[in-house]
Amino acid sequence: MTYSGSMTDVSILAHELGQGFHHCVMRDLPDAQRHYGRSVAETASIFGETVVRLRNIRLSECHGHCVG
Ligand SMILES: [Zn+2]
Repeated sequence: MTYSGSMTDVSILAHELGQGFHHCVMRDLPDAQRHYGRSVAETASIFGETVVRLRNIRLSECHGHCVG
């Protein structure tokens, strides 16, 4: 991906990080357990995107006055 620092890029990066995490935790499972549907494969990716989205919502609600 080409990263330019936009929030879309951050979201894509979070998605790909989730994909990498999912791959990492699945790698030692028996072969039969490493075949899964696309919806399962996207679970960790969507989770990563959701974390970014919730953080952005929180930041937008506190108008820069939030801590942490
Ligand atoms: Zn994906």
